[in-house]
Amino acid sequence: MEKWMTDCRKVLKDVFGYADFRPLQKEIIEHVLRGEDSLVLMPTGGGKSMCFQIPAIVQEGMCIVVSPLISLMKDQVGSLKACGVAAEFIHGSLDFGEQQLILSNAMAGKYDLLYMSPERFIQSDIHDLIFNGTINLLAIDEAHCISVWGHDFRPEYASIGKIKKHKPELPIIALTATADEITRDDILEKLHFPNKENVFLASFDRPNIHFSVEPGQQKFKRIKAFIDDRPDSSGIIYCLSRKETERLANKLQGAGIDAEAFHAGMSFDKKDKIQDDFITDRCKIICATIAFGMGIDKPNVRWVIHHNLPKNIENYFQEVGRAGRDGLASEALLLYSYSDLLLWKKINQESSQQELLDSKLNRVFDYAEASICRRKILLNYFNESSESDCGNCDVCENPPKIFDGTLLSQKALSALKRSKESIGGNVLIQVLRGSYNSEVMDRGLHEIPTFGLGKDLSFYQWQHYLLQMIQLGLIEPKYKDRNNLKVCDLGAQVLFKNKNVNLVAYEEKEQKEVAKKKQRKPEKKTLFDLLRVKRMFYANKEGIPAYMIFGDATLKDMETAMPTSLPDLANISGVGNVKLEKYGAGFVEVIQAYYKDLKGKGDSFKHSCGLYNEGKSVEEIAQIRSIKEVTVISHLAAGIQKGMEVDVAHLISSDEKKIIADAYFRLGKPQAMKVIFEDLQMAYSYTKIRLALAFVIGQD
Ligand code: ADP
Ligand code: ZN
Repeated sequence: MEKWMTDCRKVLKDVFGYADFRPLQKEIIEHVLRGEDSLVLMPTGGGKSMCFQIPAIVQEGMCIVVSPLISLMKDQVGSLKACGVAAEFIHGSLDFGEQQLILSNAMAGKYDLLYMSPERFIQSDIHDLIFNGTINLLAIDEAHCISVWGHDFRPEYASIGKIKKHKPELPIIALTATADEITRDDILEKLHFPNKENVFLASFDRPNIHFSVEPGQQKFKRIKAFIDDRPDSSGIIYCLSRKETERLANKLQGAGIDAEAFHAGMSFDKKDKIQDDFITDRCKIICATIAFGMGIDKPNVRWVIHHNLPKNIENYFQEVGRAGRDGLASEALLLYSYSDLLLWKKINQESSQQELLDSKLNRVFDYAEASICRRKILLNYFNESSESDCGNCDVCENPPKIFDGTLLSQKALSALKRSKESIGGNVLIQVLRGSYNSEVMDRGLHEIPTFGLGKDLSFYQWQHYLLQMIQLGLIEPKYKDRNNLKVCDLGAQVLFKNKNVNLVAYEEKEQKEVAKKKQRKPEKKTLFDLLRVKRMFYANKEGIPAYMIFGDATLKDMETAMPTSLPDLANISGVGNVKLEKYGAGFVEVIQAYYKDLKGKGDSFKHSCGLYNEGKSVEEIAQIRSIKEVTVISHLAAGIQKGMEVDVAHLISSDEKKIIADAYFRLGKPQAMKVIFEDLQMAYSYTKIRLALAFVIGQD
């Protein structure tokens, strides 16, 4: 086994270019190599494929991979070929001759991996291959398709399990990103896996995804601002209906944004083309119904927006999971409104499982409304408890501000009572804000005493507070009465008995975004941009998606470490031998040119500041750049002086800054650092003094 694991590590590095296994990969690979069966449950992007690809490569013989969609097979086989692995896929749409050729190659042991659909798998020629060829492993991808409880049950999948009876010695590895317990048990049963020791359950956390939720107000404006703020990045916007996908895509196109609609009602060819354009970065943004994504393995989807409340957390998590498979920072933004909830409730009414669906719906609505760490809620939902707040969600970053909303609520409650509880949310807000429009005037609502009492708040603020009042149980929409709002018992207590109500303050999201935008530096072409151009050149040349050349994570690593020689480039994660040979020189050339340019302009400090802003420590930067730590400090100081955004808060506190600055001014400028150092009785390091002075001098 040890020898095998050494081989596996070698394959990981030489073929795929990765230095270390991800959590559980090593354990699973060992288990597979021992000839045992395994069920692997890992989130999207967790690195499932490696668990069968590496054993397939190091062992004699071939691994058969059953995969439900041609696009998925094409993607994996393309990526494997790009790394120099002998892989192929066989499916019904190839002609007879092509299929025969692949089968005879397989029989002759020419492949390490052969991908096929479940329909193809159960045909007799494959049966022959399994019994007469040397098959070392059967991998079943998207294994939840075996289970009727999974969300994509496929009848052909169900019969795969029979192979166990005929060929019990053939190890099977089943993989899925669906983790719920019924599905899991069902897969074990259908595949005749003896026990739960075969189950490998990875954490479902996706730490690189940032979660945020906002009330869906002025959605188009919000989405446009979001996209404008993230130029060049790929994203998916999930909508509830086909019509909505088209409407939104049209509007985005009208605003000059490169977006396409995608839904199940489109022709096969059209869908295929859109998927292909998305994968190859010809189209950056897709407005889709949930039909989109199942066949997409694109690793560099940077964000996912939900245009509406999803129907449950499982779906939400799966859709969100399509962002950031490459492990780089990615975002999930959920826009929701109360009317989404009502719409789903209506849809659920048609189902025989209404109660179950409603309870799942309530959970996702609670998630949207929550004022505790979003990741905690999600992980708890999947039975993974998490103790600490994540620091990477909107709630963690911006804890809700609670205020006494008693008076505010009383205004709304009183207006409702005065209008005889015969109006919905929108009219109520108009009354509160004192709008003389026909709907209000026709009903004489402009004459009630509360008319205009809530002028101080905007329409959106009122919307935000009414939603909370519903959530708190002060008021309640009557579905059967055109969603008109009624005052509940609790509401009556607030109105008549002065019962206290706490509300979460409304926040202008847009202003926050604008503020964020202002902080950003003016964009110049970064090394990452230049590397992307090079990557596109190779992708076009080879006719494969850009990410199959190198992933974004690999380009980011190149940008950070700036390898200017082939051996240095080989150390970058994701650079295997075949790719090194094929594309290495091209990328090194780009980096060398950039490096020269940088040095020539005396911009070396920018590089250090850039690394620092990416989270590298001073020590690490010194190592990466082979310079002294004191040089790194002087680079940071230079950056600060030149107005770059460099957060040195944990190198120097604001108190320290102040004390040193005071000394500087007290001693009369200009002063050598040594004088300040001694004046402060050597209590502050040269590092701190250098940084503090940067701020002072910067302000001069
Ligand atoms: P899954 O099938 O679980 O969604 P993949 O197998 O597609 O995930 O892997 C996701 C990404 O992670 C791929 O780009 C893959 O190359 C990368 N990856 C897998 N294993 C490792 C590893 N050990 N180190 C670095 N990257 C890895
Ligand atoms: Zn959090």
